[in-house]
Amino acid sequence: MSKAEPPKDSLLNMAAFLPVSHSNGPGRRAVVWVQGCNRNCPGCFNQEMRHFADKELIAVRELAGRILAIEGIEGVTFSGGEPFEQAKSLAELAEKLADSGLTVVLFTGYTFDELAAGNNSDWQRLLAVTDLLVAGPYEKTLPAQDYLRTSANQQLLFLSDKLKRHPDIAGYQGQTAEIIVDAAGKVIVTGFDKIF
Ligand code: SF4
Repeated sequence: MSKAEPPKDSLLNMAAFLPVSHSNGPGRRAVVWVQGCNRNCPGCFNQEMRHFADKELIAVRELAGRILAIEGIEGVTFSGGEPFEQAKSLAELAEKLADSGLTVVLFTGYTFDELAAGNNSDWQRLLAVTDLLVAGPYEKTLPAQDYLRTSANQQLLFLSDKLKRHPDIAGYQGQTAEIIVDAAGKVIVTGFDKIF
């Protein structure tokens, strides 16, 4: 009898990673930006993450380990690019993180209605493990400076109760941004940098 092959790890095409951020969702969160988005929102603020070239291809298990080793975070945020273009890998990652008590925030250019009507099991699996969804394409004709929303058409949707009463949500403190200088001296601006 031949020995069964071990299951192959799913890969994620990751554009960028930040271990700790306060500006990409409530509380202290790791942030995963995925590479690739099919939309073409005029004024897109993450142009360099739209094309589908390979950036950092990382196994889901390895990335989960990297995130779970970070001290003091309460969750993870998925952004991009378009997270639902890599829904299978992100669903696997989110399930591992949720099993360890982390919450999941997700920014998508799709509307909730498009996702619900999508008839895509990977999309439904990712939605099932998402606590807060920021949904809808960036519309530069509808600029907004609300908490986590850059255009007024976007929706903040609580898909579970876990983040509904978070102090950052209750306070609705408007848009925030961070300037981070990493150990190598690299300066990273994240969050909603249009406020600068
Ligand atoms: S959905 Fe986001 S990443 Fe994609 S084009 Fe629109 S603003 Fe850019």
